Amino acid sequence: MSSDQVSVSSNHNGVEKTNEEVDEDIVTPWNVSTTSVKGVDYDKLIVKFGCKKLDQALVDRIENLTGKPVHPMLRRGLFFAHRDLEYILDRFEKKQPFFLYTGRGPSSGALHLGHLIPFMFTKYLQEIFDVPLIVQMTDDEKFLWKDLTSEQSKKMAHENIKDIIAVGFDPEKTFIFCNTEYMCPAFYQTVLKVWKVVTNNQARSIFGFSGEDSIGKAAFPAIQAAPCFSSSFPQIFNGRRDIPCLIPCAIDQDPYFRMSRDAAPRLNFPKPTLIFSSFLPALQGAQTKMAASDQNTCIYIDDSPKNIKNKINKYAFSGGQATVEEHRKLGGNCDVDISYQFLKYFMDDDDKLEEIRKKYSSGEMLTGELKKEAIEVIQKVVADLQERRKLVTDETVNTFTSVHKLQYNY
Ligand code: ATP
Ligand code: MG
Repeated sequence: MSSDQVSVSSNHNGVEKTNEEVDEDIVTPWNVSTTSVKGVDYDKLIVKFGCKKLDQALVDRIENLTGKPVHPMLRRGLFFAHRDLEYILDRFEKKQPFFLYTGRGPSSGALHLGHLIPFMFTKYLQEIFDVPLIVQMTDDEKFLWKDLTSEQSKKMAHENIKDIIAVGFDPEKTFIFCNTEYMCPAFYQTVLKVWKVVTNNQARSIFGFSGEDSIGKAAFPAIQAAPCFSSSFPQIFNGRRDIPCLIPCAIDQDPYFRMSRDAAPRLNFPKPTLIFSSFLPALQGAQTKMAASDQNTCIYIDDSPKNIKNKINKYAFSGGQATVEEHRKLGGNCDVDISYQFLKYFMDDDDKLEEIRKKYSSGEMLTGELKKEAIEVIQKVVADLQERRKLVTDETVNTFTSVHKLQYNY
């Protein structure tokens, strides 16, 4: 299947699936869809992608190493899989350097709640590890894949950078760049090396490119691979090429990093390591993820409190029963209820979350009451971000995006 077909079949309801794919979850960088109301079967996906489950022993190790309670998204299994996380934890234990790398493809004027997941979690990782963070804005990718001019994708990238900064990053520890602006010699050299060792056949089998796809699309994965390698940032790593990275992202990005990990040893670079999240579901249900390419599925971080309330009340798929009587008798289903899923990602208080789960499942709590809880929590997350974003000026953006050394020495 070509990447175009994958992205075009983004009506997200599986109608365009071929017979072969019926009941098979689709998870690619361009499309996430499943026929199950419970969402993607992540255990199956771990086997299919060949990554590892992030088990309790590893969560405990992070807690012990850092001496801090782990992030709720880790405790609740929302970050659920990894590649070589042990290696990075070993390095942390031995006080050896590594860095964090994540990114965003600017395809909407504002981030949606799903985009916040990797960034909120990255903020936590930077707090516990105290290492540099690199954020790549793939405005080139969105230009190549979407019906956008390069000016539009660049403008969105700049707006999105402000949203990302509002999550709470520090310019002394963080470098954010747009691909169309940071194509310096060191970065290009790294891209070039990746291009040389990845064949067309590999790119086609990993990403599904076909002969009809532009050569830009085929060239792009190397550009997302380049920041995995410290050689791309001499101003930060003082020319060192041997510093590995940890990438927090949703699991749809794995194909890029499978390719990067395959290329790394052939370039004499360390392999990137990964920690993967599940998908924040679409408002309409967990059969698809919240995705910028389908606006109806999203709560954006520039939505007003009223808008958030209306969207959740009107669209958030409910796991409740058809009538109050039935609901009281049979209880609701948290596994498919989107308001509950939102709380799982964004409510900090474990005890309260568990109480809600019990009350809703037993029928003591009604759908309207559950929605009210979700509305309050999401309104607060969004209001806090909006408050911080007001303080982010173009000058603030420059402190992150200018080519600068960070506070770490190598
Ligand atoms: P588009 O629909 O234009 O592809 P998108 O909403 O899928 O946009 P991307 O820019 O492709 O967003 O993804 C940026 C990062 O956010 C990636 O790490 C991706 O895995 C993550 N991400 C995107 N959507 C979600 C989601 N619903 N839940 C969790 N993470 C998400
Ligand atoms: Mg996407």
